[in-house]
Amino acid sequence: MVNGHLRLHSCLLCAGPAEALALCRACRDDLPWNGSACPRCALPLGPGRQLCAACLERPPLQARTLAPLRYEFPVDHLVAGLKYHRRLEHAPLLGTLLRDAVLAADALPCLLLPLALHRDRLAERGYNQALEIARPLARALGLPLETRLLYRHRATAPQMSLDAAARARNPDDAFALDENRLARLGRISRVALIDDVMTTGATLAAAARVLARAGVEHIEYWVVARTP
Ligand SMILES: [Zn+2]
Ligand SMILES: [Zn+2]
Repeated sequence: MVNGHLRLHSCLLCAGPAEALALCRACRDDLPWNGSACPRCALPLGPGRQLCAACLERPPLQARTLAPLRYEFPVDHLVAGLKYHRRLEHAPLLGTLLRDAVLAADALPCLLLPLALHRDRLAERGYNQALEIARPLARALGLPLETRLLYRHRATAPQMSLDAAARARNPDDAFALDENRLARLGRISRVALIDDVMTTGATLAAAARVLARAGVEHIEYWVVARTP
């Protein structure tokens, strides 16, 4: 009890009183917002620039990437807490920050697909952080969450432990689609692939390739944060 009122939330960053978001207004305003970014890959850009050089030269598979935050302090701590230290209470917060970015954008996809973990990594961690972020997001947006279509049939080394060149080739052919599930779902036109952080985008691109091969026309990436 604080001043006679029940305090339902405290800020995850400063422990002060917070709103339903679990961040106080000041900490929320101070987050590293990715305000001016490439619309295709969410790479942080200077104001006034349109596509980044890489997307101009070679348009990527995804039609758009939504990444409301840059992967900097304290977002890196919030994500690492969820991913490596079982801080599952960070997932609704990260999902809400992503939801606000989605609501500010236009047309919604028909399906949300959290990026799958290989079953060995899932067994080791006990949960998939992308699914933990996608679950409250799907609920808030009223969109179906599909967890049985995309799977990872090859374990890959954690992206952070590799250099850029190894990272770019590492996830090739790591993903596959469950054919029975695909047949049951019928035609899928628009999909949003969901993950916590986008670094080079190689992992997301590997998943996007199998979806494109299956005839999905419009693929978007929705991630909480983008590395600059
Ligand atoms: Zn705070
Ligand atoms: Zn770009």
